[in-house]
Amino acid sequence: MPDPNCLFCRIAGGEIPADLIHSDEDVLAFRDINPQAPSHILIIPRKHISTVGELDEEDALVMGKLFLVAKSLAKDEGIAHGGYRMVVNAGADAGQTVFHIHLHLLGGRGMGWPPG
Ligand code: 5GP
Ligand code: ZN
Repeated sequence: MPDPNCLFCRIAGGEIPADLIHSDEDVLAFRDINPQAPSHILIIPRKHISTVGELDEEDALVMGKLFLVAKSLAKDEGIAHGGYRMVVNAGADAGQTVFHIHLHLLGGRGMGWPPG
């Protein structure tokens, strides 16, 4: 069930515009509004899952699909060869600000480690 108060549910429902680059029955991908790298894409399940701690067994397939979409988009963005980073922030200490689970795909520049 979409959460009417959730920003990413509203993007998935077409109510709030986004720079969509992938859409299928389970997964949506769009460009981050405040990009932290030359390519910064958010990949989300259409299903409202607030955070990693709320995942159920039945979500395993869609979470795998997020990675497959990321792999395909990395190729389309031209960052597959050089490498890219995928990040899931889970909870406040990790810096999660939007509580609809999402995979960040970042690439197009060198990445530092450890992350901030
Ligand atoms: P988090 O910090 O929760 O892991 O990531 C949330 C991301 O959503 C941030 O990188 C932020 O820039 C992005 N974001 C926040 N609001 C919007 C929006 O309205 N549209 C898009 N495309 N990205 C957003
Ligand atoms: Zn949501």
